[in-house]
Amino acid sequence: MQVTLDHISKHFGNVQAVQDLSLAIQDGEFLSIVGPSGCGKTTSLRLIAGFIQPDKGNILFGQDVVNQVAPKKRNVGIVFQNYALFPNLNVADNIAFGLQARKIPASEIAQKVSELIRLVKLEGKEAARPRELSGGQQQRVALARALAISPKILLLDEPLSALDAKVRLMLRYEIKRIQQQAGITTIYVTHDQEEALSISDRVVVMEKGIIQQVGAPETIYKQPANQFVASFIGISNILTANVISQEQGEISWNGITLCTPAFQQNTATVQVVIRPEKITLVTERDISELDGSKRNLLTGHVEGKVFFGPMIRLAVNVQGVTLFVDVPELAQYHVKGGETVSLYFHREDVWVLSS
Ligand code: ATP
Repeated sequence: MQVTLDHISKHFGNVQAVQDLSLAIQDGEFLSIVGPSGCGKTTSLRLIAGFIQPDKGNILFGQDVVNQVAPKKRNVGIVFQNYALFPNLNVADNIAFGLQARKIPASEIAQKVSELIRLVKLEGKEAARPRELSGGQQQRVALARALAISPKILLLDEPLSALDAKVRLMLRYEIKRIQQQAGITTIYVTHDQEEALSISDRVVVMEKGIIQQVGAPETIYKQPANQFVASFIGISNILTANVISQEQGEISWNGITLCTPAFQQNTATVQVVIRPEKITLVTERDISELDGSKRNLLTGHVEGKVFFGPMIRLAVNVQGVTLFVDVPELAQYHVKGGETVSLYFHREDVWVLSS
């Protein structure tokens, strides 16, 4: 089922929670809404669920405007952060709850429940009470319960944030698998940008009730629309530089000429983004082998380093500005604090922000 938000606004008192939100979520799509606390993620979801009404604009399911349709009649499955399971009902009865309320024959309910138990991999736990389950298992029950009514749309509000890191990671892929198997249009709210990138067909980045960018995860990461997106999604080095030539892709940063791809921005200064993993440490020998003008070569001293397992993140001070540089955890990169290092990046790995 396609979901369309057409110029939706919603305020609470003097807080503009959502402002002129327009978005079309395709049938079967997995779309995440990501952004800092208070940016309007949950409000957007509650509007779609029908718990609150927009001040302005229309919400459509398929071709139908649903603004006036009660939540119960919207045929939407919802999963919250805190599971909200019935503590006195066992797993099977929790999952069956919505079906019983709809007066579906018992044999049909039993069949549906056992299908869902299999789908969320909780075989053998049918008779368990929620308190006898781990957080991850409880969230599986909540997911199965939401899917029981065969909703056309699934809304997930931070469903994993109460779980520990490992369970989170595993359930992330489970949710994706279940969503694909069910082919259900899914809107997933999270403040965790990595989660959003890894699970979604498209990601919406919001700030202060306004959409900052909508795109495929790779686009959001590699081509952020603005400084907010660049700094919210992943780690970015954002440099402000003077434009030398748009056509040639040349900028001047702290008196150093840097090369970028050709760009359109017709301004005296631009901001460019260079991701830490796109900057490499180079040795004297590497430098002598660099072709051309040896541009995009910087010298700085190491201020700090953090071990991340497969890689090390260095903080390198270049002309008073700290750049983050991710280097593979290899013996030759046992760089010491205070050491002077040379950094290099390809011009293609510089993204010029449009605003
Ligand atoms: P979080 O990640 O913290 O859950 P969020 O992005 O989901 O944040 P919302 O819950 O949508 O943000 O809130 C957006 C803004 O609207 C916030 O400033 C919030 O305080 C305000 N708000 C939300 N619901 C209400 C309400 N019922 N009454 C008053 N203000 C509200």
